[in-house]
Amino acid sequence: MLLVKTVEELKDVAFRIKSTNRSIGLVPTMGALHNGHLSLLKRAKQENEVVICSIFVNPVQFNNPDDLAKYPRDIEGDIKLIEPYVDVVFAPTADEVFPEPPKEHYDFGMLERVMEGAFRPGHFNGVGIIVKRLLDWTNPDKAYFGEKDFQQLVIIKSMVKQFGLKTQIVPCPIVREESGLALSSRNQRLSPEDRKKAADIHRILEESLKLKEEPISIIKEFVVNEINKIDGFKLDYYEIVDDQTLQNVEFYDLSEGIIGCIAVYVGEVRLIDNIRYK
Ligand code: AMP
Repeated sequence: MLLVKTVEELKDVAFRIKSTNRSIGLVPTMGALHNGHLSLLKRAKQENEVVICSIFVNPVQFNNPDDLAKYPRDIEGDIKLIEPYVDVVFAPTADEVFPEPPKEHYDFGMLERVMEGAFRPGHFNGVGIIVKRLLDWTNPDKAYFGEKDFQQLVIIKSMVKQFGLKTQIVPCPIVREESGLALSSRNQRLSPEDRKKAADIHRILEESLKLKEEPISIIKEFVVNEINKIDGFKLDYYEIVDDQTLQNVEFYDLSEGIIGCIAVYVGEVRLIDNIRYK
């Protein structure tokens, strides 16, 4: 495994891989890695000759300075965990990625005006900036993204289309703890008690599947009410949206794919999750 810290070296390594006709799978991450990240890396390993994993807590996608400061970091632990599954780890400093403040402005239209985009102003521009740079620097055949960050996945797919990039974006299913809680680096910040409670998010979403035949408004109301009943939970949003446009769905039959997306604070930790209805 090769540890790369500079952009020049990353570009160089990727160029050498491509010039020997080997395929590259890219897995962008922010570190504090867990089995969810590992599932992306394992898939990348199966489908590519070379796997590049980036580990970078991207400051420009954080709208909340406290969230950035408290984001868990453990580069040594990360490298130990992923070593069997990666060929190249790119772990730069913020100055290396942003020698000057980035000036790019991406427009993802209606995709970024809802849910995470509405609650975290500038977040998706920050995500777009880092992912576009990583794609440009490594020119991967495939790049792997988790369905846990469903809106991010749709936005990255749209960016790749917008710029005519040839990288294939590969969606990967959500990996959960036995309790049902979606794995997340932020789970480390939960107290043992809150971690138990946080499993209720998935439990409630699963329960709402039973209401699939009911009008969308009833399903939404059920989830919102159940979440609000739990002490220590603070709901940012629960939206039931078309899986392509991310806009609210009112009638079940009008969309081919329907997904419910939630963001909720458990204590001070903001968690997101989602569930597919159709
Ligand atoms: P992050 O380090 O949180 O930015 O995540 C890096 C990538 O891993 C993103 O594409 C995430 O969607 C994905 N990911 C994070 N948690 C999970 C999970 N529990 N299951 C599947 N993918 C995940």
